[in-house]
Amino acid sequence: MLRVGRRVASRVVPLAFATAVVGLGAYFVGYSTISDMQRSHAEYVASSFGRYLVEEVGNLDAIVAGAHSAQVVAAVIGAVKPIGTVYDFRLFDKNSRLRADYARFKDGQVLHLADRVRNDVAANVLATSHVSFALREGDGVASPRYYSDITIPLVDGDKTIGTLSVLSDETETWPRLFDQFRSVLVQVALLVAAAFGIPGVLYLRKMRQLANAARSLRHSTQYDGLTGCLNRATFTRIVHDLVEGSQGKGLSVAVHVIDLDRFKDVNESHGHAAGDQLLKETALRLRRLMGTRERIARLGADEFAICQPYYVASPQVVAELADDIARAMAKPFELSGGKVLCGASVGYSYYGRDAHSVDALIQTADLALHNAKTRSRGKAVAFDPGMESQRQFRATIEQRLRTSLVNSEFEIVFQPVYETTTDRLRGFEALLRMTDNDGKPISPAEFIPIAESTGLIHDIGVWVLREASRIAKQWPEDLVVAVNLSPAQFAAGDMAAMVRDVLAWSGLAPHRLELEVTESVLITDTEVVLKELMAIKALGVSVALDDFGTGYSSLGYLWRFPFDKLKVDKSFMSDLTEEGSKSREILSTIIALAKVLDLKVTAEGVETEAQALVLRDLRCDLVQGFLFGRPTRTIELPTIIQRGVSGKWPTVETMRTRLVGRRGAA
Ligand code: C2E
Ligand code: CA
Ligand code: CA
Repeated sequence: MLRVGRRVASRVVPLAFATAVVGLGAYFVGYSTISDMQRSHAEYVASSFGRYLVEEVGNLDAIVAGAHSAQVVAAVIGAVKPIGTVYDFRLFDKNSRLRADYARFKDGQVLHLADRVRNDVAANVLATSHVSFALREGDGVASPRYYSDITIPLVDGDKTIGTLSVLSDETETWPRLFDQFRSVLVQVALLVAAAFGIPGVLYLRKMRQLANAARSLRHSTQYDGLTGCLNRATFTRIVHDLVEGSQGKGLSVAVHVIDLDRFKDVNESHGHAAGDQLLKETALRLRRLMGTRERIARLGADEFAICQPYYVASPQVVAELADDIARAMAKPFELSGGKVLCGASVGYSYYGRDAHSVDALIQTADLALHNAKTRSRGKAVAFDPGMESQRQFRATIEQRLRTSLVNSEFEIVFQPVYETTTDRLRGFEALLRMTDNDGKPISPAEFIPIAESTGLIHDIGVWVLREASRIAKQWPEDLVVAVNLSPAQFAAGDMAAMVRDVLAWSGLAPHRLELEVTESVLITDTEVVLKELMAIKALGVSVALDDFGTGYSSLGYLWRFPFDKLKVDKSFMSDLTEEGSKSREILSTIIALAKVLDLKVTAEGVETEAQALVLRDLRCDLVQGFLFGRPTRTIELPTIIQRGVSGKWPTVETMRTRLVGRRGAA
């Protein structure tokens, strides 16, 4: 702004100066022109009057030369009738001495010797032949308002006989000339204005437009166009300035990063216009909380940030603001399409405590946000150092997932599943294994969620299905293989096609493949997922509901989709052996329900004989767990397959010895 202002000034000052010079110049040229005109006019009047005198007064040369007495001269000259504008005149001889003075003669006076002093003006006119001229102002009573005083050589025929000084009334001529001058001056002024002023005004306007354009350009490079919030670069700079300015004053700066929880849903179900409206309203709510927009930024599609200076002595204000933000966002938004609930998660961190640079400050707030997103949506979460190691851990795992995929370093282990009534081996569940760079195993409970959030699960899922199918193809025909599917794999919408392709590639009969899904897969986009699952079933593949009894456990899913099997979560095993325990009651209900719905039930995580016996009592169909067999590497499978039974069920014999042993002890 300052620069543009200086540029305007640097052009305007010379322009104004030029206008002033031209204006003043025009004034002086105009004024000297009319003065010259006035002078020529007076000269003309004087010389005409001179000729008139010569004609009127027969012996003028003798009178001027002093050949007559003072009385005669006074009588003759006093009788002259001044003509035109001339109202007074004087005559000087060749020595420039006064010989006649009309004003005195007409009053009946005469000239005395003392009056006949040499007149310098007359002498100068005679000597140089230059006319003497002056325009004078009178009082309008004794003398006219304006009059010219002119002295010219007095000529008779071709002889100069003296000088004539004439006073001519210019009260009419001069104002008229001056009026003309003024109107010319006005015209000149208008011309000057046209010549300089109009371009000047246009120039000024242009400069103002330029300044406005510069301002809006600056705005668009510093602010987000939709919400009017700061953009990331400006925000970073402002946080920087705040940090710098707070040094040594007991002040510090906190950053809050805010992410809308259901923005995508709103955008998809209500349209982009509603999405835009939601973002604007979000910015407005934040502005209301902050009282200014100079602390609020939009960092991404639905991600905002706030910087907050605070007194180091009272850091609680930061947590308070974070909670206020989460609360403000939890309120419904009134959009043109109707009311929507969106909500937002907030992560925040403190300069000095959590980070020592602005970038790190924003990053740590981002990490806290990430935590809020995954653990406590709709809430505000403060950064803690554990999050940083967690982030590093996630980054390492992600890297490892990528290399394992590229180098086929994953492994699948298989856990046997046995039939309760016959103890016969019915098949295996395929479980994915990955090691870190040093060959140490990493739990799938850790790497699967990361594979899901990074999207790597798609390629990994295809790899597992192919590998499991390929291996299972080599087993006896009556054994099935169960493969876990992640909800994230359904996002692509080509699950059934993928399964069909893999079966065609491996040659595994569809009825030997069982896919395990968890309830969470049915929570979002139920219709789409149901269609996919139906298409999978149509291939002849069976579908099991995994981890049943955890999470949402809405029985509604059991009616909506024809599952083939329920896998009861291992959490039921812990107090299963206690008579009348909740787990046992629920499990018995689930099994009864499954019978009605014609579903098989597998109990997972069976670790003890006691659990196995209860499960048999409850008429659970299948069992799987460490008691019957750990997840096993492929090369060891033939032994398990050849044995065909687990042999882990306590026989009546062993039960009796144990009972006897216990009695003996008592
Ligand atoms: P899950 O599908 O419920 O798998 C059963 C888990 O229970 C396995 O853990 C298995 O090793 C463990 N387990 C088996 N018997 C017992 C027992 O008697 N006691 C106890 N305490 N645990 C037992 P694992 O292999 O660590 O897998 C954990 C989870 O990771 C799986 O839970 C599954 O959700 C996921 N997962 C594993 N492999 C894959 C895969 O290839 N794809 C997908 N999407 N998820 C997989
Ligand atoms: Ca499973
Ligand atoms: Ca399970």
